[in-house]
Amino acid sequence: MITSSFKTTKSDEIFAAAQKLMPGGVSSPVRAFKSVGGQPIVFDRVQGAYAWDVDGNRYIDYIGTWGPAICGHAHPEVINAICEAAQKGTSFGAPCRLENVLAEMVIDAVPSIEMVRFVNSGTEACMSVLRLMRAFTGRDKLIKFEGCYHGHADMFLVKAGSGVATLGLPDSPGVPKSTTNNTLTAPFNNLEAVKALFDENPGEIAGVILEPVVGNAGFIVPDGGFLAGLRELTRENNALLVFDEVMTGFRIAYGGAQEKFGTTPDLTTLGKIIGGGLPVGAYGGRRDIMEMVAPAGPMYQAGTLSGNPLAMTAGIKTLELLRKPGTYEQLDRVTKRLAEGLLKVAHETGHPACGGQISGMFGFFFNAEPVHNYEDAKKSDLSKFSRFHRGMLERGIYLAPSQFEAGFTSLAHTDADVDETLAAAREVMTSL
Ligand SMILES: *Cc1c(COP(=O)(O)O)cnc(C)c1O
Repeated sequence: MITSSFKTTKSDEIFAAAQKLMPGGVSSPVRAFKSVGGQPIVFDRVQGAYAWDVDGNRYIDYIGTWGPAICGHAHPEVINAICEAAQKGTSFGAPCRLENVLAEMVIDAVPSIEMVRFVNSGTEACMSVLRLMRAFTGRDKLIKFEGCYHGHADMFLVKAGSGVATLGLPDSPGVPKSTTNNTLTAPFNNLEAVKALFDENPGEIAGVILEPVVGNAGFIVPDGGFLAGLRELTRENNALLVFDEVMTGFRIAYGGAQEKFGTTPDLTTLGKIIGGGLPVGAYGGRRDIMEMVAPAGPMYQAGTLSGNPLAMTAGIKTLELLRKPGTYEQLDRVTKRLAEGLLKVAHETGHPACGGQISGMFGFFFNAEPVHNYEDAKKSDLSKFSRFHRGMLERGIYLAPSQFEAGFTSLAHTDADVDETLAAAREVMTSL
């Protein structure tokens, strides 16, 4: 698709109307394209690796509804299963056999999880897991990392990634200091900083939560020894280690980052993929900790629509597709071609860049130096990224509208899609 034929008349009209109806015209901030400028695109439908907008433009989609669409959008088996399940009702508000099925699949797959509680979003999973960390340890303080995003609950809106990083909000107004007083932060990949926090707050820290591979400050991998070091530090201090695998769970390996890197946390949060495109979250972990959760134990947490048969069905079908042999090898192969290709194009067209991928998750920074933490990520050339993003969009390549978001591929992305993407990238980078 060439720039001259790129028309967004209908998108622009719909978005203009949306801005009068909803704050910023969207239901979630990053969708508004604020950090890259220009108007967002209004989608009409999605299928496989592609999205079509209301003006009829087709895009190769590297957001995949921010991760869940790992089998490709609107996978026929997932859609059929949802339609069939819907005939029996959309929510029971009572136990449902499908909860057992998905729970068993999650427990089998994720090393740390012996019991699981389903909720409706990643945000809910993270806020619930924090309550559980505090209930179990009897301690209030928490360590998180700069640039990591754990949903939008008050306690986590300190140096948070994703939309918070994108919009440059320091902390959000409306978050009382009293709810973040107990949130301590450290730079990612910095064990010394974590050790110092433990030393300064003896016996007070409930645990450490992190994205084991960061996807909400761009794509940042843990240095060798970082995850194992956190495991040791938390053990020494009788604190809990929590992996927020809302993004990485079933994404970088079937068993998530904990399988990939061989470090087992005490608790894990999940979301995105396990809902197969419907709203879901989950938290789980050691049985002795999970048995604190009501009604087995005293820590209260509940949800009207939690574990509903539609979301369970979409999750079950998605995991069934993912556990077939070869899926992660395929994701890895296609995504490696993309990530390496983008770097090659950048270098050949004279743009300093770095990046990488694990399985179907990738990242790319306009930054000469490798990125180990959020401070490094912020050194990227954001204005160049904005122009790159727009150029790609006009050529039918839909990338996350922020330098501070990872990209995602799916089982539907082909070598031909990657070739088309790299050809577009070469055109755009030559013109930057
Ligand atoms: C997306 C995400 C969340 C929040 O999940 P929502 O479903 O958007 O509430 C939390 N943690 C991580 C790591 C995420 O990527």
